Amino acid sequence: SSADIALHAAKSKGKNSAVEFHPAMTVETRKRVRLEMELRKAIETNAFELAYQPQFDCRGGTLVGAEALLRWVHPTDGPISPVDFIPIAEDSGLIVTLGQWVLRRACQDAARWNAHSSASIPVAVNVSAHQLRHPRFTDDVRNVLEQSGLAAGLLEIELTESQLMANIEAGVEAMRRLRAAGVRLALDDFGTGYSSLSYLQSFPVNSLKIDRRFVRTLPDSGQPIATAIISMAHSFDIAVVAEGVEMPEQLEWLIEAGCDVVQGFLTGRPMPFEQFADLVCKEPLVERNARTSFDIVE
Ligand code: C2E
Ligand code: MG
Ligand code: MG
Ligand code: MG
Repeated sequence: SSADIALHAAKSKGKNSAVEFHPAMTVETRKRVRLEMELRKAIETNAFELAYQPQFDCRGGTLVGAEALLRWVHPTDGPISPVDFIPIAEDSGLIVTLGQWVLRRACQDAARWNAHSSASIPVAVNVSAHQLRHPRFTDDVRNVLEQSGLAAGLLEIELTESQLMANIEAGVEAMRRLRAAGVRLALDDFGTGYSSLSYLQSFPVNSLKIDRRFVRTLPDSGQPIATAIISMAHSFDIAVVAEGVEMPEQLEWLIEAGCDVVQGFLTGRPMPFEQFADLVCKEPLVERNARTSFDIVE
């Protein structure tokens, strides 16, 4: 469309400087171009935070991990959802720099929450295909682990099914390198990306996350798909995490259905580091050792 062309022109013109507004730009395009500029600035000024959402074992109800979620509070517009700015970061290539920051911060934070207790609570980091494709990505991961002192087995990288499906061979190659580095892998937003059984078998993942859209409709219309995902994953020795659990009925159904881990507003919203670290400290040691979950923590 003409808007895309205008955006493209504006982007290539203003890579590192201010982006020019072209009169042909639609309101949407202008907004996008403005966000891209501001995103660039936010990266320079370190204006991001990470929130941590706890994950709980379905069997013992114990804390088994956290997902790191990027937060950006815009100076005038207030908080902006990653759903709105991650795609812009991806299209502009800014995701590589931003993603490095996320990885580093998440590993440092996880090293801290595991340092002063006998806890081994892993952190899950979302990584976009653009980052995964970057030739230095695995080396970056290794460096960050070394510098932060976090054990490789306490880092889980979340990749979305749909992004992997865009280039399966390259994705599998990158996943193998990461697994060789000792990192765990999760397939995010599972059920939305049209992958078939045979692909799942070739993806070297430790867990998959049932997309929120199926969890939302539990215990009603989401049931057949959720049941199928759980049984399929378990037959490949892959653990199942349900995301977006909001209702007690959903939790009950998931426990009954043999889901391994839950993550959602019902059991814990994304929270600042300090609050999550408190949660780690409060976790009773006995229960932690008694954890029976499916190979979530090495
Ligand atoms: P995701 O990886 O699937 O993350 C889960 C999203 O579901 C998060 O949204 C989380 O806040 C939300 N959520 C968790 N429990 C519930 C619930 O019970 N109900 C509802 N309605 N929502 C729930 P958030 O933080 O807005 O992130 C949205 C997406 O943005 C993420 O989806 C992920 O794809 C992307 N994202 C976030 N942080 C990063 C990052 O650091 N890097 C990359 N590449 N993507 C990120
Ligand atoms: Mg995720
Ligand atoms: Mg997800
Ligand atoms: Mg997602």
